[in-house]
Amino acid sequence: TVSIRALNKFYGTFQALRGIDLEIAKGEVVCVIGPSGSGKSTLIRCINRLEEFSRDSAILVDGIPVVAGRSLAKVRAEVGMVFQNFNLFPHLTVRENVMLAPRRVRGTSRAEAANHANALLARVGIAEQADKYPEKLSGGQQQRVAIARALAMEPQVLLFDEPTSALDPEMVGEVLDVMKALAGTGVTMIVVTHEMGFARQVADRVIFMDGGEVIETGPPEQVLGAPREQRTQNFLSAVL
Ligand code: ATP
Ligand code: MG
Repeated sequence: TVSIRALNKFYGTFQALRGIDLEIAKGEVVCVIGPSGSGKSTLIRCINRLEEFSRDSAILVDGIPVVAGRSLAKVRAEVGMVFQNFNLFPHLTVRENVMLAPRRVRGTSRAEAANHANALLARVGIAEQADKYPEKLSGGQQQRVAIARALAMEPQVLLFDEPTSALDPEMVGEVLDVMKALAGTGVTMIVVTHEMGFARQVADRVIFMDGGEVIETGPPEQVLGAPREQRTQNFLSAVL
């Protein structure tokens, strides 16, 4: 469960998030949509505190407050993140990328971490790439490594920030397929995306943001199919 309460975020004097309240249930798949600059990335980066946020706000992951200090490592172990540009470590092989966090954070043995990494790489369909370096892989393959890496800590929550936006069109499908398969496994997923087809098909709930606020939230058939708010309608008619 992710609880976001009255979340405010300032960059200097500019307020990027304005009083966001959200409860995301365990196993729920939420897609976040909205125009550029609406605060989508800022919102999900606050959830594992890649961004600081105002002290009068609260975020809880499985009841643990996301605050600086000792509990932060605990929260981060429960929250995996997949970025637009993969962010793999270029000097490590694919398998080593997936092994790194369990080795460093949990002190998992090399053999156990390697076995788990092999299983995760098989799950995302790239077992045969394990000994290569990331630069030898296609974008779609690199993003699947990033997903395997995020899964390696067996997180409760997975955050995705436009995971297919940097991919060539022919590789978008293979990454979305992996995400679809994950969606049924009980992991909570919060996905910032422009893939309306994915949102329609996979999301339990769609959140439309604009100007640092949640404007509308509901099941995909409502928010995408019959939006109530004018701003949602305007956005959708521009992107669909
Ligand atoms: P996009 O669809 O382009 O990725 P977004 O919805 O993810 O947009 P954010 O990146 O969250 O938007 O940005 C929200 C607002 O905060 C924007 O106005 C942006 O310019 C501003 N902003 C983001 N990061 C910073 C920063 N590090 N310093 C100052 N302002 C920032
Ligand atoms: Mg963004």
